Amino acid sequence: MKYNDSIRTVKGVGEKAEQRFHKLNIWEVGDLLQHYPRDYDEFRDAVPIRELREGELMAVEGVLRTKPALKNTSRMKIVTVFFEDATGIVQATWFNMPFLVRQLHMGTRYLLRGKVGRINGKIVMEQPKLYSRNEFYKNVGKMLPIYPLTSGLTNTQVTKAVSNALSECDELTEFLPAEIRKRHGLAGYRKAVRDIHFPADRVQFLKARRRLVFDELFLYQAALKAIRLRNNHASAHVMEYRNELDEFRDSLPFSLTGAQDRTFREIAADMASGTVMNRLVQGDVGSGKTVVAAMSLYLAVCNGSQGAFMAPTEVLAAQHYESLTKMLGPFGVRIGLLTGALTPKQKREGKRMIASGEWDIVVGTHAILQDNVEFRDLALVITDEQHRFGVRQREKLSEKGDNPHVLAMSATPIPRTLALVLYGDMDLSVMDELPADRLPVKNCVVGTNYRPAAYRFMKEQIGFGHQVYIICPMVEENGESEMENVAIYTERLREIFKDGIVVDSLHGKMKPQEKNEVMSRFCRGKSDILVSTTVIEVGIDVPNATVIMIENAERFGLAQLHQLRGRVGRGDAQSYCILVYGRESEEGKERLSILADSNDGFEIAREDLKLRGQGDFFGVMQSGDKLFRLADIYEDADIFTAAHEEACRYRFDEVSRFYAKNKGLMERLDHYMGTVSL
Ligand code: ADP
Ligand code: MG
Repeated sequence: MKYNDSIRTVKGVGEKAEQRFHKLNIWEVGDLLQHYPRDYDEFRDAVPIRELREGELMAVEGVLRTKPALKNTSRMKIVTVFFEDATGIVQATWFNMPFLVRQLHMGTRYLLRGKVGRINGKIVMEQPKLYSRNEFYKNVGKMLPIYPLTSGLTNTQVTKAVSNALSECDELTEFLPAEIRKRHGLAGYRKAVRDIHFPADRVQFLKARRRLVFDELFLYQAALKAIRLRNNHASAHVMEYRNELDEFRDSLPFSLTGAQDRTFREIAADMASGTVMNRLVQGDVGSGKTVVAAMSLYLAVCNGSQGAFMAPTEVLAAQHYESLTKMLGPFGVRIGLLTGALTPKQKREGKRMIASGEWDIVVGTHAILQDNVEFRDLALVITDEQHRFGVRQREKLSEKGDNPHVLAMSATPIPRTLALVLYGDMDLSVMDELPADRLPVKNCVVGTNYRPAAYRFMKEQIGFGHQVYIICPMVEENGESEMENVAIYTERLREIFKDGIVVDSLHGKMKPQEKNEVMSRFCRGKSDILVSTTVIEVGIDVPNATVIMIENAERFGLAQLHQLRGRVGRGDAQSYCILVYGRESEEGKERLSILADSNDGFEIAREDLKLRGQGDFFGVMQSGDKLFRLADIYEDADIFTAAHEEACRYRFDEVSRFYAKNKGLMERLDHYMGTVSL
């Protein structure tokens, strides 16, 4: 069996299953083998009945004390029994397995493992699996894979398919030179792939993961280096400082923070230096990066050139367009918007304005990158929310002009060492200061039973003329439920809030046009509450919004929560962030309390790293943009460094030859160099 064979060739995958696998974007054997578990079920030894904990998957060994009782309801057949050990008694129930009545015998000892639940205050085992001692102890200590699924496909099916593919695929040959593996103590490829799916224990899992993470990072860095080498030539546009910039500063309704001032001076110095600027601005949410971008663009325009400002989403691009127009329009700067949401005619017209130089500044999404967009004289390219873009996109934009200056802005604070690896030779400006009039956001971490109080609080805030965001819980992997969730939640809210309060909703599956309309209604204060998925995470600026409530907060990463929270506290009013956790867990609460205790993005990033560094690799957080399938820039800092070292040793064509046969990784390569889209 080969990598490129259809998954139909895998034993046990029929026509139906094939179609379901396609939904997961698994078409060939290689895709299946790189469909890594999202988590593992660690098969632990049985515990005394007294130690059963609600919500966990646990095993007990007990003697059957009651005769199995069968209850027939109109929908279900329910079998109920009681098991006992020296420490207590536990009830077990099975649905629609009436045959158990005959198979279970009173007085016999059983090993059972299942989800621990609670009914009428009593701990119960729901639908537990029964094991023979032999079977059970064979599994103890093992980590069983839990795969991302789609409806109609069970974890058992996927597990079997992966297992069959592993044993039959004869293409899992090593491609990485032995010297590299030796230098970094990396597992062999075949073993790594096998062990990431079916690790015997944690140690094996970590070894396998380390190898596969290395592959991702090595290829990524080699690609990064290749692109840079290609662009390391160039004489630059010299942009001189002009008095108009002081006038612009004076026109602002506020004075710049020290960090804004320093950062802009660094930028202006770069742009006047005669070599191409390549700078990353890292600023916490709300530190005021947009104004710095506006000044830099104006600097280019004052020197008779053009500037481009690229945002990762339509919504954000539209917003930047509006605020730049407000700020720079009075100075006679001509600004245009170019996004995928425009009509073909509007796009054509826009391109003409760009080519003729009638637009001084273009704000847009990656639509700006299209090949037939030509600039008259592009001198500065800014990408906002840099972490959302692929390297290729940034590069493509800088290929547009004649070696334009490049400024990247990011609100994701990463440790300096990692910034150096990720952004290589870029210079770094850090904006670690918020405007002086900001009151720190007040945070609270609460359970779902707090909702009624939260809604009352929102009503009060809306009464004061403020607005509210609610981030909807995320459910499962498929997009439909995300949409449904927002819709259902919105309906419920409308019922709760009734008349007078306008509730709107926003989610990723909406058409760009619709998204813009909803967003613009909210910006203009026409709606009071915006129920949204994480699409509002990046950049959105509505200073009048003072409350954000995040449902199922435990499912987000800390950095992402910090970004979301950054949507409030952007004006001079006191703002509030309500983090609602859906499921009790000590670890989850501890994480959320870090967020509640600090409003400093850099601090949060450090804490996040510390916490994760302590070794919980398994709490897989759902995150919007996955640059890597396995690698995590925080927890894999050491592998990053190792991969960086190797990437400096080899040429890009050598590295890509190593990986040429690895379908998944070559696809990732495209991804690295292309879009990280929302
Ligand atoms: P971010 O860094 O998150 O992109 P923005 O540039 O969107 O932040 O700025 C957030 C808000 O702060 C905007 O409404 C902006 O007008 C305002 N702002 C920016 N700089 C200052 C300042 N120096 N003083 C007061 N408000 C400011
Ligand atoms: Mg911003």
